[in-house]
Amino acid sequence: MEIKYNISLKPYNTFGIDAEAKAFVSIAAEDSLTEAVSLIPEKEPLLVLGGGSNVLFTRHFNGWVLKNEIPGIEVKKENENNIWVEAGAGVNWHQFVLYCIEKGWAGLENLSLIPGCVGASPMQNIGAYGVEIKDVFEYLEAYSLHEKTFVTFSATDCKFGYRESVFKKELKNRFVITRVCFRLSKKPFFHTTYGSIQQELETMGVTELTIKAISDAVIRIRQGKLPDPAVTGNAGSFFKNPEIDTNHYLELKYRYPELPGYPASMGRTKVPAGWLIEKAGWKGYREGDAGVHDRQALVLVNYGQASGEQIYTLSEKIMNSVLEKFGIELEREVNIY
Ligand code: FAD
Ligand code: NAP
Repeated sequence: MEIKYNISLKPYNTFGIDAEAKAFVSIAAEDSLTEAVSLIPEKEPLLVLGGGSNVLFTRHFNGWVLKNEIPGIEVKKENENNIWVEAGAGVNWHQFVLYCIEKGWAGLENLSLIPGCVGASPMQNIGAYGVEIKDVFEYLEAYSLHEKTFVTFSATDCKFGYRESVFKKELKNRFVITRVCFRLSKKPFFHTTYGSIQQELETMGVTELTIKAISDAVIRIRQGKLPDPAVTGNAGSFFKNPEIDTNHYLELKYRYPELPGYPASMGRTKVPAGWLIEKAGWKGYREGDAGVHDRQALVLVNYGQASGEQIYTLSEKIMNSVLEKFGIELEREVNIY
């Protein structure tokens, strides 16, 4: 096992922030994970990284970074309707989605082109275009950093919510996810009502609906709207879409009749944070190399040399401005270190 010291994390986070890690190890199997953990001094901070597409480093990381690269895709069981597929935490998410589509296993197609790795997908119950991984999740395996044992989590154990799970809350920093199993379908149920999927399928001239066609439509929409992290540093949506009291929503709707809203849990209403940020005047704003994307105001970007602190400061200004204008407190979705 090779331990690298004082290395730049710039190639390992899609914001392209040049923060350093005190120590860095790549993990390609369960036994190298347990070995690496046994080498880490008790009080040293530990951070597991997948693709680094949902993190913002605001300072150097004065601890150990474990880059999860556990590979492998394995069919665990199947019946007439379903197939249970387990993937290593280090498998690239989009490659996994494409592999399943090629095999004809349905369920993940709406989640095409999300950056990152399989192991991070349960962390925030990744979601897009009306589907979340909780819809197809079967179980995950994780290594407990306290008990030093492997544990299996069911969907109920994971306490999935909107861009949330137990791993972002009460079990934060306590487990390393090593494998995730999904229950996919041999008889697809298509999700096409969300956003502009239907319209995109028509533009593409699709006459026979397939999971591949849905995936292609999602890819086309995303490529037209979101900045490619390989070109412009970003971590996708910087904030969650807030779920507000429906009376508050109706008050705002009176003031801003064009304000979109969607029914959310417990009778609340979900409001697109991107709309609020744009309306508050931030879309396309730039301060040095830190900015707000000009096609999707929910995405903060690094035009080159921005520091994590500059991006964080910009996010604070946006939060204050949205609070002042709409009385809504935005919450960051990106994990801050
Ligand atoms: P990382 O950024 O490496 O890690 C994220 C967090 O999870 C960190 O706290 C890390 O410590 C922890 N973690 C990672 N792996 C493990 C593990 N194996 N065990 C324990 N903890 C772990 N997200 C969506 O939900 N929907 C979208 O549509 C979407 N679109 C995006 C588009 C773009 C252009 C970008 C840049 C990001 C987008 N994201 C989206 C956010 C991000 O891609 C996802 O959250 C993704 O799952 C993060 O994966 P990762 O491997 O890069 O995680
Ligand atoms: P969009 O289609 O412009 O819609 C704006 C927001 O309104 C979305 O974020 C979505 O919330 C909500 N919305 C739209 N139609 C809805 C419906 N029919 N029912 C319920 N909610 C609806 O969004 P976008 O920015 O282009 O993103 C498209 C999808 O990709 C969204 O699901 C978004 O979450 C996901 N995405 C996520 C990230 C990330 O980093 N987390 C980055 C890019 C895209 P939801 O977010 O709840 O879907």
